[in-house]
Amino acid sequence: MNLVLLGPPGAGKGTQAKKLSDYYGIPHISTGDILRTAVSEGTALGLKAKEYMEKGLLVPDDLIMGIIGERLEKPDCRKGFVMDGFPRTINQAEGLKKLLDEKNTKLDAVVYFDVPKGELIERFTGRRVCGRCGATYHVRYNPPSRENTCDKCGSELIIRADDKKETVEKRISVYEDETKPLIQYYEKEGLLISIDGTKPIDEVFEELISLLRGEKR
Ligand code: ADP
Ligand code: AMP
Repeated sequence: MNLVLLGPPGAGKGTQAKKLSDYYGIPHISTGDILRTAVSEGTALGLKAKEYMEKGLLVPDDLIMGIIGERLEKPDCRKGFVMDGFPRTINQAEGLKKLLDEKNTKLDAVVYFDVPKGELIERFTGRRVCGRCGATYHVRYNPPSRENTCDKCGSELIIRADDKKETVEKRISVYEDETKPLIQYYEKEGLLISIDGTKPIDEVFEELISLLRGEKR
């Protein structure tokens, strides 16, 4: 199963990608996670990406396509993948198509998470992530069992540097300008499935699975 999760920042893509990854036994590929690791490790990629991420801007397409090209070469991708946060521009979508063509494969579906802006802000404000394993929580909607502690690895939860109010507003406007056109792009390709992302996490997941089974398509 080759999946792309599309939607505004904070829509719940990462949360559902992790669940889909467990359910289908396919890797979760998050360009945001890969970039955050590169920044924290101070690699050449991280040094280049940091200034864009801090400002809420997109990291240049050539760097992103390099990450994806390399990631898709790994053997675990033979079973498929669930991409979250990529592609984010038409140019990246074209690049992905080319990479998949070269491997004689293609996308099975692109899921668009529909969540209104007001709710996105609420989600950012309460988002907490594990500084070590990247697990995502929400203080109200998906709290950890012990305050500020990751259920999976016991490490401390942190607030993402780009979840502060000014950066969030910028990220949403960058999404509107550069990523939203992908909805129409994938609709034309006949790949788009839309989902109401405002429901509780488990309901969104059930709906997702049933849509992907083709029951409601
Ligand atoms: P994205 O990867 O699209 O940026 P996340 O998966 O990180 O979004 O979710 C953003 C925040 O919203 C997180 O704190 C997460 O726990 C919470 N969240 C995700 N899905 C839902 C949902 N369906 N209802 C309420 N909160 C959610
Ligand atoms: P995310 O974790 O998906 O919210 O991404 C966090 C930040 O990483 C974004 O605001 C961008 O700066 C950068 N980023 C992640 N994925 C991409 C991408 N596909 N293209 C460009 N920039 C990206």
